[in-house]
Amino acid sequence: MAKYIFITGGVVSALGKGIASAAMGALLESRGFKVTLQKLDPYINVDPGTLSPFQHGEVFVTDDGAETDLDLGHYERFTSVRALQRNNFTTGRIYNNVIMKERRGDYLGDTVQVVPHITDEIKAAIKSVADANDVVLVEIGGTIGDIESLPFLEAIRQMRYDVGRENVLYAHLTLVPFIKTAGELKTKPTQHSVKELRAIGIQPDILLCRTEFPFSEESRRKIALHCNVEPDSVIRALDVDSIYEVPLVYRAEGLDEQIIRKLGLPAPPSDVRDWEALVERLKNPVDSVRIALVGKYVGLKDSYKSLYESLVHGGIANQVSVDVQWVDAEDIERDGPERVLAEVDGVLVPGGFGSRGSEGKITAIRYAREKKVPFFGICLGMQLAVVEYLRNVCGMAEANSTEFDENTPYPVIYLMERWYDFRRKAVQERSKASDMGGTMRLGAYPCVLVPETFAYNLYGQKDIEERHRHRYEFNNSFRKVLQDNGLVISGMSPDGELVEIIEIRDHPWFLGCQFHPEFKSRPRNPHPLFRGFIHAALKSRNVLLSMTDAE
Ligand code: GLN
Repeated sequence: MAKYIFITGGVVSALGKGIASAAMGALLESRGFKVTLQKLDPYINVDPGTLSPFQHGEVFVTDDGAETDLDLGHYERFTSVRALQRNNFTTGRIYNNVIMKERRGDYLGDTVQVVPHITDEIKAAIKSVADANDVVLVEIGGTIGDIESLPFLEAIRQMRYDVGRENVLYAHLTLVPFIKTAGELKTKPTQHSVKELRAIGIQPDILLCRTEFPFSEESRRKIALHCNVEPDSVIRALDVDSIYEVPLVYRAEGLDEQIIRKLGLPAPPSDVRDWEALVERLKNPVDSVRIALVGKYVGLKDSYKSLYESLVHGGIANQVSVDVQWVDAEDIERDGPERVLAEVDGVLVPGGFGSRGSEGKITAIRYAREKKVPFFGICLGMQLAVVEYLRNVCGMAEANSTEFDENTPYPVIYLMERWYDFRRKAVQERSKASDMGGTMRLGAYPCVLVPETFAYNLYGQKDIEERHRHRYEFNNSFRKVLQDNGLVISGMSPDGELVEIIEIRDHPWFLGCQFHPEFKSRPRNPHPLFRGFIHAALKSRNVLLSMTDAE
């Protein structure tokens, strides 16, 4: 039977509960346990798909097409978990399920209440991911003290009685702040946070204390005493330069030992050599590259979480550090591309929705194409690269995506009315009238690569599968004119209907893909396209450097 670890957060938000959970999962995997991770989010939205990236950060897409919380991205990057819809439940989804059951009459006339109906639904959601896993790690969103998370906390409190004391462990992430004026680390906020947890019936077994400086054994004992936790279970979660150091920091503090002991698990030796090698590479870059990320949501870095991490992974693969310059596409519209792009080694235009900044992105793409700066376009970035090519190479100046100009005479990116959906194995029909969410192509789709292309050479295989999240597609009526003018289509759906990857020749590296490769890149297994892009950026930088040397 699976054992459960519930991770809650206290004191303040943004302590990195997602990374803490993921790192714990990684440590358990390093001992050979089979784990899974789940996130319970206390907001009312049924999923984060409709939330503004400005508010909530990136929407992480799973193979089964679920739009989920970005913490699932951390789970996948740190462990071998392949998340699905059921790895993320929101309050909205839980209530939605309960209300549907009530309408169907499933409760046989009972008064439907938070306890037991909502809490039962939450517990069923938690148990739905257990499968054959040894350990299920469940992260509760929000901070202790929020009204919203109470039903989740009540449900996890009950779980200990449902599945047995020895099968459940509560870990609580808190902050031990350093107060400059006093020159001291303060344990009081942690004490208060644990007090609040205990008031709702949860006694944490393990405390993960985020801290800027390693605190003394005395502080450790003090926290332990006041919080009713064993001193060895007070873990110093020291601030680190890279999130990928977290598993090693936890291990050095004996976190996995504590978990194993408390859950009565066997204790196979741990093997973290891959994590050590990864951190070694990260910390000793032999060079660096500068990449401009030209987007719309650059004010909130969380909006491009997976993308940023994938660039870091591309850096790891080439043993270089990646300096990401966050460029607001509207700045390019205002100031032109030279000012912000002249100094960079690569230009990346990521996914996005809505017309704001789209012309700035097109200008950036043109600059990268003409000045032969390595370019990587993802989803919207690929669509705009096609628009730019049709406009400036094929001479159809009014080309556009119908997302931005419904009346363009050259709708090279448009809503495809009929297409075969390889994931659902059915023909899909859609139009502007169909509802917003329903028309999105979401989740993992197969793609066949064309030999002797950048893409094929990087992946080293013909058949790949990547995750999607978009409505608009490449319009095949423009395929010929684009190809006649040198655009290479290097990846397509198995029936050849959907264009998935485009490239151009006579350029160090210019590639756009309709899918989001960033959802599948891992620090221990960097994605081939990011590896290739960073490699190209590094190469073109060195070419430029040798040219200036020669001058
Ligand atoms: N807005 C575009 C579409 O819906 C691109 C979406 C994206 O970049 N994720 O097709």
